[in-house]
Amino acid sequence: MDEIRTNKSSRPPACSFCGRPQALVRALVAGPNGIHICENCVGVAQSVLQTDQPKDDAESAAGEIPTPAKIKAALDEHVVGQDSAKKKIAVAVTNHAKRIRRPRGESEVEIAKSNILLIGPTGTGKTLMAQTLARILSVPFAIADATTLTEAGYVGEDVENVVLKLFQAARGRPAMAQKGIIYIDEIDKIGRKSESPSITRDVSGEGVQQALLKIIEGTVANIPPQGGRKHPHQEFIPIDTTDILFICGGAFVGLDRIIAHRLGRSAVGFTAEPKVGREAESSALLDDLIPQDLIKYGLIPELVGRLPVVAVFADLGIRDLVDILTKPKNAIVKQYQKLFEMEGAALEFTAEALEAIARKSRERKLGARGLRSIIEDLMLDLMYELPGLDKSSTIRITKKTVETKTAAAGRWKPVVGD
Ligand code: ADP
Repeated sequence: MDEIRTNKSSRPPACSFCGRPQALVRALVAGPNGIHICENCVGVAQSVLQTDQPKDDAESAAGEIPTPAKIKAALDEHVVGQDSAKKKIAVAVTNHAKRIRRPRGESEVEIAKSNILLIGPTGTGKTLMAQTLARILSVPFAIADATTLTEAGYVGEDVENVVLKLFQAARGRPAMAQKGIIYIDEIDKIGRKSESPSITRDVSGEGVQQALLKIIEGTVANIPPQGGRKHPHQEFIPIDTTDILFICGGAFVGLDRIIAHRLGRSAVGFTAEPKVGREAESSALLDDLIPQDLIKYGLIPELVGRLPVVAVFADLGIRDLVDILTKPKNAIVKQYQKLFEMEGAALEFTAEALEAIARKSRERKLGARGLRSIIEDLMLDLMYELPGLDKSSTIRITKKTVETKTAAAGRWKPVVGD
């Protein structure tokens, strides 16, 4: 192939793949019979060929399959509590790793995929757990929100874009993407008989579930490497989703009532009970969950069948929230202490202050999600004034500091001890 210099036909040469004329491309390479290719399409072709087969096979053969206990121990470093969910997930992930490394092309027993469904209130660590798993396993990770997805051909995000996100997280390496983890949030919001009318979604939840089912089951998704909407004359990269681990999550508000109803227990009872008892009863009911309850909730039976591992996340108590503030590797309190240390100052939170922050977050019913914003709000003025503050004494945050900060909008008085 030669760089084009002359052009015998009357029409100016253009890329035979994307149709761009010579004037719009940096380089156009000519092949036989008037065929040309531009530098963009060469790039696309390169990524299509970049299956990294030998390297990735070597990678997957290397290292031991982590045991469930090792996975749980690694999860413990980042996620507080949720022990029974962690155990279930750890076993599922070990089985998944074994499945990926199964011998191929032989008449072997086919190990079914252990896709996971996480059920629990918002801010209890579902996304964090999925994200941490991907980090532990060193595989690419992508998050999608089920409510933004639509069936192919409708306005909205095409389900295959989820695979595209994973491909991008795998830095364009198809073989890596094919072993990644995809977390699909808000799966409970795309029920069959979704009663909330939405002007932004013009398709039924069922259609989206069907589309999701296809990629979860395992299909070859053809994704546009540059992203965006698909259009004709575009090159696609085939990504096989068979070995991608799908983790779906949702709050499933009201699922406990469906279980109570099936068990013949009165659901009316629990609204009259005190809050703590109600929450305990609700999570006890979830232990009795059977697939039919999820179908009743609005998931299609085929999708329920493809999510064989169900892990229930418990509501976080004050103790858990305090632990979240202080214990994980990147705990918020540790992060602020680091920031202060970098300014040569010391920061301390009293036990009562931590508890007061946890209480506030719990009142907001956002699980651990509220913790960061409460602390950020609390620390804003202090961070602003930090460079000019006297750094000889430890700056201590007390219960009073936490309570008065929101009660009175007065000037920040940080160096107050009890
Ligand atoms: P969910 O997906 O259940 O709604 P997330 O995992 O997104 O909740 O949690 C939101 C934030 O709250 C996380 O980034 C994390 O900082 C914190 N968090 C929630 N649950 C936990 C937990 N069990 N352990 C540690 N941090 C948590």
